[in-house]
Order: sequence, then C-alpha cells, then structure tokens
Amino acid sequence: MSDQYAYLRGAFVPLEHATINVRTHAFLYGTAVFEGIKAYWLPERQQMGVFRLADHYRRLLQSCQILRLRSPYELPALQELTCELIRRNQCQSATYLRPIIYKADLRIGPILNPEGTEDDFCLFSLPMDGYLNTSGIHVGTSAWRRLDDNAIPARAKVNGAYVNTALAKTDGALCGFDDVVVLTNEGHVAEGSAMNLFLVRDQKLITSAVTDNILEGITRATIMTLANQELGLTVVCRPIDRTELYVADEAFFVGTATEVAPITQFDHRPVGHGTVGSVTTQLLELYSKAVHGLLPQYADWVTAV
Ligand code: PMP
Repeated sequence: MSDQYAYLRGAFVPLEHATINVRTHAFLYGTAVFEGIKAYWLPERQQMGVFRLADHYRRLLQSCQILRLRSPYELPALQELTCELIRRNQCQSATYLRPIIYKADLRIGPILNPEGTEDDFCLFSLPMDGYLNTSGIHVGTSAWRRLDDNAIPARAKVNGAYVNTALAKTDGALCGFDDVVVLTNEGHVAEGSAMNLFLVRDQKLITSAVTDNILEGITRATIMTLANQELGLTVVCRPIDRTELYVADEAFFVGTATEVAPITQFDHRPVGHGTVGSVTTQLLELYSKAVHGLLPQYADWVTAV
C-alpha cells in the first residue's frame, strides 16, 4: 500500500480506498466539476506553496453554481483541506492537486436536482514536474470545435466537457501534433486542448475574449498581469482569426499544468522565426519566479503550507 492519501466522503483515506460506486451520477453522466491546482517547493522558504489557491476554489464554486451542484464546503475549508493533503502526503516537489465536486447520487436519471442529493467533494494529489516542451511545440488546428456556452459552458470546468478535449488532443496527437488549437463554431480561435492561448503581434499580447468559449484561465489572468505590470505590454482580449496564428510573431499556451509552453509551429508553418521569442521567454521566466514565490510584489498569489 502506498503512503499517499486522498480525500473522499468527508475523510482522508489511503489512495487505494478512494473509490466510488459504479452507479455514481458523475460516472454515468459526467456531472462533476473540477480544478487543476499546482503547488511548488519554495526555495527561499523551504516549504511548499500553492499557487492562487483561493482563485482556483472561487472558480470551482462558480462551476458548481452553473451546474447547480452543492459544495459540501465553503472557500476557507476547501483551502484548508488542500493544505492538509499536501502535509499528509509529505509533498516536497511540484505537485498537481485535483479537487472534484461531483454528483454522488446513485439514482438513475440525468436531472440536476440539488434537493435530496448528496454532492460530494474529493481531492487527490500527484507529483508533476514540467508538462510540455519549453523549447517549442508544433500545434495543429483541430477539426473538432469547442463546446458552446449554450451547450456545455466552457466557463465551467465540467468533467464531461473533457470528452471534447480528449477528442481534439487525441486526434491531434495521431496527426503528429504536440497539441491543438480548437475553434469556436463561428470559426474563431478559442483555446488549446486544456490551456489558453496568447499571440504576440507588433509587441502587443493578444488572447481570446472570455465570450469565445474559453475557460477563464487563472494562468491567463496571471500572464496578463505580469505582461502588463512587469513588461509594460498592452494586452488585448478579442476574437482571434485562425490565420492570425500564421502571422503571429510569437505564440504560447498557458495553464496550471502546462505553465508557459512556447509554440514554434502552427499547422506546419513556423511562428515568427520558428524559435522561442523574447516576450515568451521573459514571461516564462517571470511565471516560474511567481509560482516559486520569488516575486515579492505577488507574494499573495502563493499560500505557504
Ligand atoms: N482551458 C481549459 C479547457 C483548461 O482545461 C485549462 C486548464 N485548467 C485552461 C484553459 C487553463 O486554465 P488555468 O490556467 O486556470 O489552469
């Protein structure tokens, strides 16, 4: 038995015992919402720090609100349970945390009725170092379209919606791409398979508008702040055409797990000179410092454990 714990049905249990019934509503219908949170070892403080912990749980509660799920815990308790898991699992290096609020009801039928149902919270952790290639990835445009706000809202991080991500990412991999960009039904660039996108054009940072079926990413918000405050760059949120990918000077994906992933090719066309650009490199370095608690002006982004 491993010495790792997870949290389920109101208790910390050995990871092997963190299992659910096959009749669970969330398993049958994908009716769950989740977060991907990352904690890092803080070299100066010699302890773990969780990056933008409260912001992740605020978004989780918003996802619950959209799905009419009831969180068994409020914000402070969710944060404390997360810190407690890090302590129990004795994490001492980069760690990914996956909280889920799911419909635990065992009755058959897809209705989302909070009355008399038992929505549950679970949480597990796993070690996670670098995710993508920081020397530049080749991204293809997926033939799969992003789900619409009026179908399964991208603003909510809904487990079932990740079928869309899985189709796009898998078919992209089979075509030889490291990752994909997905378009909205109107044909604008939404985001990557599970990350937000930034382009650099004429020293301006451009990212898709929140009304273009994206997850309102926490890394996206972080990068917008760092670009504006630390590099003095203008950040524009607006619809992005597919062909803007082909004429961008630089491009990169951002996300909690992805961190900052430079893109050096779109659909077999080099981005800029086909190498990692200077704005991307600067933001990658700033982001790495921020998550490791090395930017004192953003100390409140990091919750020390
Ligand atoms: N878009 C999607 C679809 C995602 O799954 C993620 C990862 N959570 C992101 C964007 C990036 O969001 P964040 O920076 O909050 O991790």
